[in-house]
Amino acid sequence: MNIILFGPPGAGKGTQATRLVEQFGFEHLSSGDVLRAERAAGTKLGQDVTAYMDAGQLVPDELVIEVILGRVLNSEAEAGVLLDGFPRTLPQAAQLDEALEKADSRVDLVLSIQVPDELIVERITGRRMSPSTGKIYHVKYLPPQREGVCDETGEPLVQRPDDTEEVVKQRLNAYHEQTEPLEDYYRSRGVLVEVEGTQDIEQIADRIGQIVRDRRPK
Ligand code: ADP
Ligand code: ADP
Repeated sequence: MNIILFGPPGAGKGTQATRLVEQFGFEHLSSGDVLRAERAAGTKLGQDVTAYMDAGQLVPDELVIEVILGRVLNSEAEAGVLLDGFPRTLPQAAQLDEALEKADSRVDLVLSIQVPDELIVERITGRRMSPSTGKIYHVKYLPPQREGVCDETGEPLVQRPDDTEEVVKQRLNAYHEQTEPLEDYYRSRGVLVEVEGTQDIEQIADRIGQIVRDRRPK
């Protein structure tokens, strides 16, 4: 079963992905994480995407499609893949469909997490990450036991350079203009399910878990 976690930046896609992986064993593929890893490794792709990411703009389709589709098609996870942050444009969605169809597979479910813009800035500017594991915290909504320190590794938590108020506004613009139209694309294919994203993390996880269980092939 292949799932897309959809929603604006800061909707809680990464947070819910971790819980779905624990429950169902999906392979989590986050395009943002893949691109950040390319940057950290100093590859040509990493260098090419840097300016776009730091400005809060989408990376050009040709830079992201190949690397993500490669990961999807190579996945050996029996449970399926859980895409987070991809696709973000209509060409990305169309190419994903085409690649899956060739592999006799499909997008089975798109979970669209609904969070209004007013809540996004606080979520994103309060986001903190463990540098080595990527575990996501929030200064107010999911604080670590000791302020500024990862519960699991004891490392100082870091903030993403694009998680500033100014860049978030740009990312929200990109979301509304280029990504939101994908909701209709998937709705017309009968795979879109809207999820209320303003509740607390555990309530949303329960709801999403229930939707996945209902839709999973028996
Ligand atoms: P995305 O992957 O969609 O960008 P994240 O999962 O990284 O979003 O969540 C963004 C921030 O908001 C994180 O700091 C996370 O801890 C926090 N967060 C996630 N879900 C909720 C929620 N339901 N209520 C409050 N804060 C949340
Ligand atoms: P968030 O979910 O918090 O918006 P991500 O980690 O998913 O952030 O993405 C960070 C940045 O990486 C985006 O602002 C964009 O520049 C780039 N990016 C990630 N995924 C894609 C994609 N599918 N298409 C184009 N750009 C992408």
